[in-house]
Amino acid sequence: MSQPKINLSLKKYNTFGLDVVAKEVVFLTELKQLENIHELKNAMFIGGGSNILLTQNINRTVIINQTKGICTVTEDEDHIELAIASGEDWHQLVLHCIENDFGGIENMSLIPGSVGAAPMQNIGAYGKEIKDVLTYVEAVNLDTLSIERFTNEECEFGYRESIFKKAAKGQYFISSIGIRLTKRDHKLNTSYGDIENYLAERCFTYPTVRDISNAVIAIRQSKLPDPAKLGNSGSFFKNPVIEPTHFEKLKENFPEIKSYPTPEGKVKVPAGWLIESLGWKGKRVGNTGSHAKQALVLVNYGEANGQEVYELATAIQKSVQDTYQITLEMEVNVITE
Ligand SMILES: Cc1cc2nc3c(=O)[nH]c(=O)nc-3n(C[C@H](O)[C@H](O)[C@H](O)COP(=O)(O)OP(=O)(O)OC[C@H]3O[C@@H](n4cnc5c(N)ncnc54)[C@H](O)[C@@H]3O)c2cc1C
Repeated sequence: MSQPKINLSLKKYNTFGLDVVAKEVVFLTELKQLENIHELKNAMFIGGGSNILLTQNINRTVIINQTKGICTVTEDEDHIELAIASGEDWHQLVLHCIENDFGGIENMSLIPGSVGAAPMQNIGAYGKEIKDVLTYVEAVNLDTLSIERFTNEECEFGYRESIFKKAAKGQYFISSIGIRLTKRDHKLNTSYGDIENYLAERCFTYPTVRDISNAVIAIRQSKLPDPAKLGNSGSFFKNPVIEPTHFEKLKENFPEIKSYPTPEGKVKVPAGWLIESLGWKGKRVGNTGSHAKQALVLVNYGEANGQEVYELATAIQKSVQDTYQITLEMEVNVITE
């Protein structure tokens, strides 16, 4: 157990690469370290730092999750259930599963960040979300320090939502999760995005979980900026969901507007399309901007501070609101103190 670090820059610990100083930083390798943290409930947790925007120095304890461990809970010929410590890297977990031919999370290859943050916003990509495989979340209650178990249903998952971002916000540290995967007869989801084209071009008639993972990795690498080269936190905004009557009105004025029906009978409008239609795609404002290939991704050209990125995000929100009367909700967690 290492000593807390005082006045440490978090530049290395957030994928935006923002140079913000934290008053005290604890590297968490064992859960019992939580017992010694003063004002634990006021502390801030960081996993991979890939879904946060740090807007100023942090005057409280920052806990960087480095807990590790993957083990088998149950297994039969068809399925395996794994328990994974929350500090494991999500993509490394995906690769571990691909290596063992376990199916279920291959479409979520290359999503940055920790396992523990994955259920926070119900991560998803290419037609799959973590809620599709998650059996439970174990979380430390920050008042009592006891470990509580949440079933999949109790996590109240929605689109980039869970109970940990709503009613239970700030009350728990997610310490581990369980996921149930297939060992054979994998139910592959190839219909989303460009996966089908990738497989057809390579004549993969009977793709494996590894083929799907490779497809997703190649597609993501061609579209999304690598945070190691250009700081970013992935999609900055959620895709808004609006009422059909609102959409019909918009369609009259903007016939080219894109949309997808939701199972609840509403209409999802791609935030990237809205932002691009207003001329933000590829636009640079000072040290920040909207990415040239993906309007939804805001980037740090090297010297940006969090406040600048936040101001750009609110300017984009305003222009979308003024033109389309649609409120863009931020997907990235904005940390203000
Ligand atoms: C290039 C890029 C692409 C991305 N693509 C996708 C995508 O396709 N789909 C998708 O869903 N997301 C995507 N993201 C967003 C991000 O990868 C996910 O949200 C990821 O789950 C964040 O994990 P993290 O460990 O980095 O979280 P962090 O940024 O460290 O934390 C996020 C929030 O969760 C809290 N938190 C973190 N760990 C814990 C814990 N153990 N207990 C309690 N609270 C905790 C933090 O305090 C913070 O509020 C992308 C990001 C990038 C940079």
